[in-house]
Amino acid sequence: MIPDMMAENVRLAARGVHKAFGAVRVLDGVRLALRAGRVTAVLGPNGSGKTTLNKVLLGLVRADAGAITLDGQVVTGTDAYRRRIGYMPQAPRFPDNLSPREVLTLMQSLRPAEPVDLDASIQRFDIGAYVDRPLGVCSGGQRQRVNAAVALLFSPDVLILDEPTAGLDPVASAALKDRIVHERAAGRAILVTSHVLSELDGLTDDVVLLLDGRVQYEGSVDALREQTGERSLERAVAALLRTERASVATGEAA
Ligand code: ADP
Repeated sequence: MIPDMMAENVRLAARGVHKAFGAVRVLDGVRLALRAGRVTAVLGPNGSGKTTLNKVLLGLVRADAGAITLDGQVVTGTDAYRRRIGYMPQAPRFPDNLSPREVLTLMQSLRPAEPVDLDASIQRFDIGAYVDRPLGVCSGGQRQRVNAAVALLFSPDVLILDEPTAGLDPVASAALKDRIVHERAAGRAILVTSHVLSELDGLTDDVVLLLDGRVQYEGSVDALREQTGERSLERAVAALLRTERASVATGEAA
């Protein structure tokens, strides 16, 4: 048990996470805490390490150093905790010859002990019109809706959503955001990545800003707004980045 990781409803947490691929250092001492009933946005430009961090949290990539905890228990190197996490990858690789119904049924069969309402899931993400069509002939947006339905099929304590609204039309995007709000109200700890910050405005409680594999900012959106004097998340993060760049240029610590 790591006491400080039990603070303030922290569910999934990482600290001191380092990861290099060969000579490329991708995560450099990353610390993060996902709290129950809150949405944490992990922000950063392409290549800043967001997807790698998600994979480390999920145990899909092994960190070189650092610890992952779930409810204060170290879970690094184990995999039983993964059933408590729902994951929506950026680009899922479902077999093209399967239909959405077959994919959802397959996922359901992996956890027979957990009750699932497949019809509700199909309805929620408006998949009905193409539910028996092979995924290979479905559009990118249609596949993305199936991706969301799979991530939210069970009722996990923690949700990790990698660019969830990418490729969705406005109706599907709004439906997914409503679902995220619903899951937050139900007490889930939710991590969302996006590089389109306007997508996350109004949805985000906490922000982690990654730059070159380092956490440059970690705090609540309210604190970020206060610090920068900007209302919108996009402008607040832009203001933060300007400060970061200025402090790097003048050699000050961030
Ligand atoms: P983001 O999700 O923020 O765009 P990623 O975590 O995907 O960033 O990638 C961070 C960096 O790590 C990039 O420079 C990427 O090329 C590199 N990287 C990611 N996965 C691998 C891998 N399996 N082998 C080598 N380099 C990788």
